[in-house]
Amino acid sequence: MDHDELNHWSKRAADWARDYHATLRERPVRPDIEPGAFRARIEGPVPEEPEPIEAIFDDFARLVPDAMTHWQHPRFFAYFPANAAPVSMLAEQLANAMASQAMLWQTAPAANEMEALVIDWMRDGLGLPETFTGTIHDSATTATFSAVTTMREKALGFQGIGEGLSGAPRLRIYASAQTHSSVDKAVRLSGIGQNNLVKIPGKADDPLFSMDPAALDAAIRADIEAGFRPAGVVLATGGTSIGACDDVAACIAVAKAHGLPTHVDAAWAGSAMICPEFRDLWAGVEEADSVVFNPHKWLGAQFDCSIQFLRDPGPQIQSMGLRPDYLQTPGTDEIVNYNEWTLPLGRRFRALKLWFLLRSEGLAGLRARIRNHVAWAREARDAIAGLDGFEIVTEPILSLFTFRYRDDAATAQLLEAVNRDGRIYLTQTSHDGAYVIRMQVGQFDVTRDDVMMVPDVLEEIAKAS
Ligand SMILES: *Cc1c(COP(=O)(O)O)cnc(C)c1O
Repeated sequence: MDHDELNHWSKRAADWARDYHATLRERPVRPDIEPGAFRARIEGPVPEEPEPIEAIFDDFARLVPDAMTHWQHPRFFAYFPANAAPVSMLAEQLANAMASQAMLWQTAPAANEMEALVIDWMRDGLGLPETFTGTIHDSATTATFSAVTTMREKALGFQGIGEGLSGAPRLRIYASAQTHSSVDKAVRLSGIGQNNLVKIPGKADDPLFSMDPAALDAAIRADIEAGFRPAGVVLATGGTSIGACDDVAACIAVAKAHGLPTHVDAAWAGSAMICPEFRDLWAGVEEADSVVFNPHKWLGAQFDCSIQFLRDPGPQIQSMGLRPDYLQTPGTDEIVNYNEWTLPLGRRFRALKLWFLLRSEGLAGLRARIRNHVAWAREARDAIAGLDGFEIVTEPILSLFTFRYRDDAATAQLLEAVNRDGRIYLTQTSHDGAYVIRMQVGQFDVTRDDVMMVPDVLEEIAKAS
């Protein structure tokens, strides 16, 4: 394919995309398909001779969409959203066309300087103080890994990067039992070790399922007594399971009293902080050393786009950055080379979709969506609470709540039947040992009617079972 053909087929692809999005509501959100069935349809030897693009494109259109779970389906209420506002898709096309590497300032000056600008825009949009700067990672997992690696190095006086960890003091990281598995992954891969991630129990009867700051303080003291070296505290704002929010101010005060750095994981809930009325959920965040939030979740910047705000990027650069001869940029001391802030060297031009999104929708447009989602989630909660045999298990935190139907077995059966039906898509978690169904409202194109179809479908399928 040459660039003239690319032009022709890009227009075909754009037509296909318009039709796909226009008819999403007619598709089941999750395909009814057995593992291995899709591969069987495309199985064959590695192509030796070139094939015409018509044939490849036709096979794509005929086979792939029916075997996909449709994340942009307005009735996707599972996991968390992975919103791709149309304008962010457009920006991605432009970034794709240039196919650049934004690893150094001089390898992509506009991408580099736009990244700095949109980080400032988002910081201001979220109501964070000007003391924060930041960078765009692929995912929150990478951001949290970077933050935890930096905690490790701060605790070791930046000796770990040179000496390794053998013979080093045994480090400890603290987090609530509600934190995401990316924190477990970070302690494993940073060499700190899973057994040195201390999960702090929640406060009794707390509607936000926050970790207990007194228990955090006690755990740190006990560890110091036992000869461990505490290295940092990870806080959750909007945990993935049920939306747990730690008391950020109180936990940071404990961390600071022990001289420990803090990282706040607001991967999902961070988007809601463009609305001032939700900022109570992370009150005190301005004192954190690091904060991660994913514009690629609720906000609408197509995956991947995860922002890490940093109070001082110095320690992270010292922990993760390398500047070999072939990556030097002569004569430019003022520049920022973002690869030094993160894990991979190569970096996509991710700032472009945020620049398009924020300009095209404005914070006002994005806020209106999030406010609707939160309000509709409460309406759906009330409707489900009124259904025979249904019980709300955790109340909405922003737009996420959980419920169950009769008992564990009936709840699991109902969920499977609902997802096989395909009109809506929900997923499960566990809470206090019970199997529960999670519902979150947040898809970019969701309407109130889509949301209120959930109680209707639940009632219909529960009655039929
Ligand atoms: C989604 C999520 C993550 C992981 O995000 P990735 O960008 O997929 O790595 C981490 N923490 C929370 C709270 C999340 O919701």
